[in-house]
Amino acid sequence: MRKKVVAGNWKCNTNLQEGIALAKEVNDIVSVDDVVVVLGTPFVHITEVAKTVTNPAVSVSAQNCAAEPKGAFTGEVSAEMIASTGAKYVILGHSERREYYGETSEILNKKLALVLENKLTPIYCCGEPLEIREAGTQNEYVIKQLQETIFTLPVEEFKKLILAYEPIWAIGTGKTATTEQAQEIHKTIRDAIAAKFGQDVADEISILYGGSCNAKNAKELFANPDVDGGLIGGASLKAEDFNAIITSY
Ligand code: PEP
Repeated sequence: MRKKVVAGNWKCNTNLQEGIALAKEVNDIVSVDDVVVVLGTPFVHITEVAKTVTNPAVSVSAQNCAAEPKGAFTGEVSAEMIASTGAKYVILGHSERREYYGETSEILNKKLALVLENKLTPIYCCGEPLEIREAGTQNEYVIKQLQETIFTLPVEEFKKLILAYEPIWAIGTGKTATTEQAQEIHKTIRDAIAAKFGQDVADEISILYGGSCNAKNAKELFANPDVDGGLIGGASLKAEDFNAIITSY
């Protein structure tokens, strides 16, 4: 059975002390054994947060990694460095990284390879901008994002991924995909995975919804058969709100 996952993406929020305090609160409040809880912290926080988290349901994630394994790349943080902190996940392909930092499919393929090589789990994001949704071509757009990147992986590597569908028009906007919109595209993604890698593989891959998911709408979104949890931005910055999402199943 595929895993239910609720992953927080703290983005560029919290200083180190605030981040440790938030991780501690989540660590203490979470009481689930059927949901994988992930804290996507800033790089600077990862080591301390990994030490703070003792709850077996909670793991730590980076929000990005370098596209090169090591060397003269000032300011970059490698997948190997992330793995050495105790973090287990890396968010890759977030729309903010694609839009503001020019992350192309080619760059993402290099990052994916390094993350997998270092035995970290990629939380791989896809999703369409508003104009594509308005044109009604979101399915084709998202499948193309997958075909250019994760669909090029060998099946044994692909099976290790978690996917997150995040419509860009819903991220941080307070607008959420309707439950029908979320189910429709999650099913489209799962069908495309089945066509490429087989139904058994498709059935085991967790596909998270992201985009203004909160304590109020999580229950309805997570009730969809092809929605296996959420990637949560704003609402992951308060332990109580985040826990309300975690307990929405
Ligand atoms: C995100 O950035 O991954 C996200 C889903 O943000 P928010 O929940 O704030 O829309």
